[in-house]
Amino acid sequence: MLYDIAIIGTGPAALSAALTLKLHEKEILWFGSASYSDKVEKSEKIANYPGLGLIKGSDLNEKFREHAKALDLTSIDKKVTNILPMQDQFSLLAENEMYEAKTVLLATGVVPAKGYVNEAEYLGRGVSYCATCDGFLYKGKTIAVFCGSERYEHEVEYLAEIADKVYLSCGYKNVGITHPKVERIDPIKEVKGGMKVTGIVLANGTEIAVDGLFCLRNAVAPSTLVPGLAVEGAHIIVNRQQETNYPGLYAAGDCTGRPYQIAKAVGEGNVAAHSILEYLSARKKEQE
Ligand SMILES: Cc1cc2nc3c(=O)[nH]c(=O)nc-3n(C[C@H](O)[C@H](O)[C@H](O)COP(=O)(O)OP(=O)(O)OC[C@H]3O[C@@H](n4cnc5c(N)ncnc54)[C@H](O)[C@@H]3O)c2cc1C
Repeated sequence: MLYDIAIIGTGPAALSAALTLKLHEKEILWFGSASYSDKVEKSEKIANYPGLGLIKGSDLNEKFREHAKALDLTSIDKKVTNILPMQDQFSLLAENEMYEAKTVLLATGVVPAKGYVNEAEYLGRGVSYCATCDGFLYKGKTIAVFCGSERYEHEVEYLAEIADKVYLSCGYKNVGITHPKVERIDPIKEVKGGMKVTGIVLANGTEIAVDGLFCLRNAVAPSTLVPGLAVEGAHIIVNRQQETNYPGLYAAGDCTGRPYQIAKAVGEGNVAAHSILEYLSARKKEQE
């Protein structure tokens, strides 16, 4: 199925756009965590969002989920790892499945511009962002895994079942992984290799020989997600219509730059939705 719009992210920017597009009866494909924004959830008190007084982040996040439910908006709890701009549509890869949409909105929040040293260079040559997609390639091999949150622990367990040995670096406390093939390591700094990955270097200088590295993070850097996307550091370059350098591709929220604020994310999501509506309507007229 070719959707009108694919929205990436379930934070305030994405929700704001999704609400407007739903009211205009567009076919929406929506990806992101079912619990919505981690950042909103973790905000102790939000005092500057109009009309809500002083509100706990977790309460606001709950209101966001309720609002989406009230409009029958459902999201798919999958991480999008690749978006390919085609001639007049986009192909999206999410956990081994391909999807297609006429337009895309990136509302992914802000993520570091770069991962580990050489990470982007070895993507597809030993570096992977998706255990389900690429895990089978490492049957009986030695791999390293960065696990960014509890959300990905089951993927680490899955990789440990396939691989012979898993070196695990975690980006959070209270790690619940106890698999016998898993050995915890210090933070990873660098990926090494020739044609393919041959090892990693840790922040403490130790080198470990591995056949592959899985980076299980909540988000993928925008320029890795969409090859050729114009960025400035960690931010996607947009104009006042929230358009990126690809026609039909929009961005909103923290991913477009400071200030990192809910009101700004919601505002940009709304502008993006209106730009998308205009784009879809112009495209329809062209085809008539
Ligand atoms: C501790 C803390 C306190 C804060 N306090 C305030 C405050 O008081 N007032 C205020 O206005 N702002 C506050 N903020 C900032 C505010 O939370 C952010 O500005 C806001 O959440 C940005 O919204 P967003 O939609 O752009 O991105 P986010 O809320 O970061 O949401 C991004 C979403 O995209 C998803 N995603 C990312 N990549 C992918 C992918 N590849 N595939 C699928 N899904 C993906 C993520 O899982 C997430 O759902 C605070 C932030 C923090 C961390």
